[in-house]
Amino acid sequence: MPLVRPASLLSSLTTLRLGGRAAVEFRLDNEEELDACGRQIDSCGLPVHVLGGGSNILAWDGELPLLLVRPNFRNGPEILREEGSKVTVRVGATVRLPYLLARCAAWGLSGLEGLVGIPGTVGGAVAMNAGSYGCETAPLLHSLRIWSPGVGLKNISAEQWEFAYRYFGLRKIEEYFFILSASFCLTRASSDGIRKTMRLNYFKKKSTQPLLAWSAGCAFKNPSPELAAGKLLDEAGFKGKRLGGMAFSPIHANFLVNEGKGSASAAFDLLGQAREAVQRRNGIGLHLEIKVLPCS
Ligand SMILES: Cc1cc2nc3c(=O)[nH]c(=O)nc-3n(C[C@H](O)[C@H](O)[C@H](O)COP(=O)(O)OP(=O)(O)OC[C@H]3O[C@@H](n4cnc5c(N)ncnc54)[C@H](O)[C@@H]3O)c2cc1C
Repeated sequence: MPLVRPASLLSSLTTLRLGGRAAVEFRLDNEEELDACGRQIDSCGLPVHVLGGGSNILAWDGELPLLLVRPNFRNGPEILREEGSKVTVRVGATVRLPYLLARCAAWGLSGLEGLVGIPGTVGGAVAMNAGSYGCETAPLLHSLRIWSPGVGLKNISAEQWEFAYRYFGLRKIEEYFFILSASFCLTRASSDGIRKTMRLNYFKKKSTQPLLAWSAGCAFKNPSPELAAGKLLDEAGFKGKRLGGMAFSPIHANFLVNEGKGSASAAFDLLGQAREAVQRRNGIGLHLEIKVLPCS
């Protein structure tokens, strides 16, 4: 299993373009390396973090006490099975989500249209239960191929996982796990109809979110389906608020943006100020949606 030395700068691997270097970084290219990878991880004794497309990550600056694993499983997508209008599609975890959506549109497979505009990989979308426009990743999953220490390589299905809003977990597995591939259960439909829905969703998104800025998407989770974190941040005066090269976007108050010269410490200061203001004003504690590296 290739050890990357020196580890890559997380600022070059994340869409927020912030962050220093992990103490150790491994590339994981095939299933045969998994057991050896697990043994090396044990011997390092560092917390493990799996990195997908880095589009939901806020990493601290400097030398980071963590072991970064970068899987490289780019197989598929491929159609596994078709029964009536139901179609099962399998895809490697490192395949980009937008590429999967493009293939689905071309093949006339409906289900994932709401996820248009979400960057990152299939593995990251599953691990985050990414979603938008009423479409979430987890309910469309048919099965997963995973590896975890103690369990090894395993194909699992819906009884073995649990999910909620921006949460996905494996039952009975308390250690870290790598998603190697995912199979989705989709429905036959016309390519033209799917493309039309994707286009509409994309234009709606583009007009309300800074899709091209350096960001990690929404910084905070919505406190409830009826109450958007962006609305609370806007009302507390944080829309467009800037600090040390970081800002809450003037287009969408919940998007924390690196304006070019931002730093992780400025990002945390700004997030802390916003959280305090909303707590004071509304009595609501906001929780981060983005994943912090290393996690505290
Ligand atoms: C412009 C923009 C718009 C966005 N819009 C949305 C949106 O509408 N809805 C939404 O839900 N999110 C959105 N996001 C956030 C982000 O794109 C999603 O959470 C995405 O699914 C993360 O995928 P990733 O591959 O980049 O994962 P990463 O950011 O690399 O990792 C995210 C989490 O997934 C885990 N992970 C990644 N790969 C694996 C794997 N193979 N095995 C196990 N765990 C893994 C990581 O350990 C980490 O905990 C947006 C982000 C941006 C920048």
